[in-house]
Amino acid sequence: MITQYSGIAPKGDLLLIQRLCSKLEGKSFLHVNSTREGGGVAEILNRMVPLLRNLGIDARWEVIEGDATFFDFTKKTHNALQGTREKITESMWDHYYEVNKRNRKSLDLNADAVLIHDPQPAPLIDFRPRSRMSVWMWRCHIDISNPMPGVWAKLKAYVSRYDSAIFSVSRFAKSLPVDEYIVTPSIDPLSSKNRDLTQQEISSVAEKLQINRDKPIILQVSRFDRFKDPIGVINAYKIVKKYNECTLVLVGSPATDDPEGEAVLNEVREFAGSDPDIRILLLPPDNHIEINALQRMATIILQKSLKEGFGLTVSEAMWKEKPVIGGAVGGIPLQIVHGITGFVVYSVEGAAFRIRQYLNNPLMAQRMGQSGKEYVRNNYLLTRQIRDYLSLWYCHIQKGKHVIEL
Ligand code: UDP
Repeated sequence: MITQYSGIAPKGDLLLIQRLCSKLEGKSFLHVNSTREGGGVAEILNRMVPLLRNLGIDARWEVIEGDATFFDFTKKTHNALQGTREKITESMWDHYYEVNKRNRKSLDLNADAVLIHDPQPAPLIDFRPRSRMSVWMWRCHIDISNPMPGVWAKLKAYVSRYDSAIFSVSRFAKSLPVDEYIVTPSIDPLSSKNRDLTQQEISSVAEKLQINRDKPIILQVSRFDRFKDPIGVINAYKIVKKYNECTLVLVGSPATDDPEGEAVLNEVREFAGSDPDIRILLLPPDNHIEINALQRMATIILQKSLKEGFGLTVSEAMWKEKPVIGGAVGGIPLQIVHGITGFVVYSVEGAAFRIRQYLNNPLMAQRMGQSGKEYVRNNYLLTRQIRDYLSLWYCHIQKGKHVIEL
């Protein structure tokens, strides 16, 4: 219920949402992505869609289905769009299109506003129902600032057919013939992932997962993906460990649209060796309370990514008043105001230096954690993102491109 956010989210956002909903009430808003669990997009949709419905918007969330070849290809293009060289053939692109074409039959694409998330379902624009005036927006959650040109050219052809494109960070925006907007992602302060927990809830998770809380805990929560740099995190921990006692916890879960996870997990396990103070945990994707508790029992939280879309885990950590350290990539520097709400780092050594700085200055760590929470309250809560999406939709209607009676 939106009323539950009063006193938590900024009042201005709640007022604006109310006004926008009085205009958009009863209209349909469809979201389409490629996985129901795992990763930031699913995390947001899981919370946003029910809240939109509660606000009187007829919101739906559909997920496209694909075979292993499709997800291998989309992972490759994901990597290529974030700058890694990948070999991608014409027949792979054809398969990508065919899978989307097949999905058209099982998905109900009729809605007043349609938000297509990320490249996987981008070709659905070709199956936009002609019978209905609607707004189609493509929402990009990844860093496409420096893509493999051929791959972006292919994707751009689809994106250019939308009414607008939405990016998480202005640096990611590309030159496009359609309107472009920046909407940063968000976290839900009331979800199981972020709500307050009792000490007893936290302790029971520590017990269940056998986490030793006698030493400071350094935590990174993320899919096992090379862009999240789990090996770099272990290397930073190894430097710190020469001077300070601590435990490193790396926790991840599989995402159905990420076929590389298992290989990366094996690499990480091998690299960690038999150090009893390194814990590598693979949790089911719906273990929100466990992640929440791990974040709350951590002393310092890292997101040492080398490439990142936004990095929701950073806001999640900041909301729990934790001192954070993040790679200076994607949306991480938006969340971490260096030296105020956390530290951004550029190297393993930099990460190790900042971990030690926090460990040796607990009062400073506490102060930065508190600033972080207020920063998230004002900028990265779900209500702000709903405000932005509804404003954008309303903007499209106002532009008169789409004849929807208000
Ligand atoms: N997450 C989770 N369990 C895990 C790993 C990640 O619930 O084992 C969640 C994490 O808490 C966050 C999301 O998945 O909400 C990851 O979002 P982020 O933007 O950080 O990265 P992405 O996976 O989208 O690249």
